[in-house]
Amino acid sequence: MTRNTTLPLSRTKNTPSAADRRRFMQMAIDLSEQTLDAGKGGPFGAIIVRGTRIAGSSGNCVFKHNDPTAHAEIMAIRDACENLGTNDLTGCDIYSSGEPCPMCMAAIYWARIDTVYFCNTEKEALEYGFIDKVILEELRKAPENRKIKSRKITNPGGLAIFKKAKAMGIAHAVGK
Ligand SMILES: [Zn+2]
Repeated sequence: MTRNTTLPLSRTKNTPSAADRRRFMQMAIDLSEQTLDAGKGGPFGAIIVRGTRIAGSSGNCVFKHNDPTAHAEIMAIRDACENLGTNDLTGCDIYSSGEPCPMCMAAIYWARIDTVYFCNTEKEALEYGFIDKVILEELRKAPENRKIKSRKITNPGGLAIFKKAKAMGIAHAVGK
């Protein structure tokens, strides 16, 4: 994760211009190259922006952290949430050097990010050996036809915790 993520850009308007958006994407692409060159992870970078201010950023950190979930978008969401002191990134956009994989897209929904801007597509990623699209195709299959199986184990204690959480009023839907 990077440090100087809350520095304002030159513009003071809240709505980014087309030039701002191109600059944010260039930053995401630059991060992807720095990440690759530093051996931190795959060639992916992501910037999260609120208005015209950078709220968070990261490259892919899968090798650095030995963490298969440390994709650039996930790490950038964590960085932005920490910097903004919230788990709700409503009003933020994400600029990703690559089209987000299914895991990251789900995280983007959980974070309630407004808009995703990406450069390289999932199809292009697959052409270069990154299997995002394969996972998406797996998820579209019925659970019983997926390569990784999911099995239900019944235990009344599980639902008891749901009931407790509901009584506490903390149930939290994605909402969009
Ligand atoms: Zn991802």
